[in-house]
Amino acid sequence: MSDVSLYYETLRGPVQAVDSVNLEVPKGEAVGVVGESGCGKTSTSICIMRLLPDNIHTFTGRILFDGRELMDMTDSEIRSQIRWREVSMVFQGAMNSLNPVIRVGEQIVEPLRVLDKVQKDEARERGVARMRQTGLPAEAYRMYPHELSGGMKQRVIIAMALIMSPKLVILDEPTSALDVSVQAQIMNLLKDLKREEDLSMLFISHDIALTSDLCDRFAVMYAGRVVETGEAEQVLQDPQHPYTEKLLASVPRLRSDVTPEFIPGAPPDLVNPPPGCRFHPRCPYVMDICSKREPEMFPTGDGQYAHCWLRGDEHG
Ligand code: SF4
Repeated sequence: MSDVSLYYETLRGPVQAVDSVNLEVPKGEAVGVVGESGCGKTSTSICIMRLLPDNIHTFTGRILFDGRELMDMTDSEIRSQIRWREVSMVFQGAMNSLNPVIRVGEQIVEPLRVLDKVQKDEARERGVARMRQTGLPAEAYRMYPHELSGGMKQRVIIAMALIMSPKLVILDEPTSALDVSVQAQIMNLLKDLKREEDLSMLFISHDIALTSDLCDRFAVMYAGRVVETGEAEQVLQDPQHPYTEKLLASVPRLRSDVTPEFIPGAPPDLVNPPPGCRFHPRCPYVMDICSKREPEMFPTGDGQYAHCWLRGDEHG
C-alpha cells in the first residue's frame, strides 16, 4: 500500500487513524506491524480488506495486490474476488465469535460453500484437510465451539482463514487471548504454514518480541504512521527510531539484569496530534526541529528506514 490514509469521523472531528502509510508485504514473507494500542495497526489492516466502518471521513491512497489496484474495485468485486479468496484475516478475538450452535467444521467451510458453491461432501473433505494441517483432529469437524479449548478454537479460525488458499493472511493479535504455552504452539503453527504454503502474512501485534519469532520484516507504527521499517533482525539489533528503541527496552528479558523500561507519557490524541514528529512529546532525543517540521522517512542503510530527524541531514 502506498500513501494510504484513513480518518474516522467523530463528534470531536476527524481521527487520523492511518496517515500516509506505505507498507509492502513481499510474497512468502511475514511482516510484523507493531506498536502500542491505538497506533493504527488494525485500521491499516481493515484498509486492505476494505472492511471499513460507516464513519469514514477520508480513505485515500493506493493498495496494489498481486498486480491489481484494490482501491479501484467496487465493494462487490472485493467481496467476490478478493476477500477470503486472495486475502483473508484472523480478527482479534475471532475465536470468541464462533457461532455456538453451528458445528465448527461447517463454519470452516462456509466461505467455500457460499462463495464457490462447493458441494457438501467436497467442502467437508477440504475442511478436514485444512483442520489436519492446523493440528485439529478430523473428529472436531462435528464438534461445537464449546467442546473445544481456546487453542483449538484459534486453530479453527486459522483453518477457516486458509480454506480458500489465500495468498495473504492478515493476523490481528492472533495469540493475545491464549495462555503462553498455547501461544507458542500457535506461533509454531503459523511458522509451519508460512513455509509449507509460501504464504504472505501481515502479523499485527503490540508484542515486538513475539512478532520477531515469525516475521522477516517489521513496520513499527506510532500514532497512525509507520515510523520505522526494516529487516526484523536489523530492527531488533539496531533500532533507528527512538520509539522502536523504547519499545524494545520495554520487553522483559529472562536472562538479563536489565530492568524493562516503560515508555513515558501516553500516545497522542489523534483528533489533534502534536505538530511535527508525533513522538516528540515523549522522545528523549527531541530537538528544536522535531515539533516544527515532520521528518521524512530517511534511509539508514540496508533497506532500513526511520521517520526521524536524527537520521536525516537536517538536525534543527
Ligand atoms: Fe525524537 Fe525528533 Fe526523532 Fe521525533 S524526529 S523521534 S522527536 S528525535
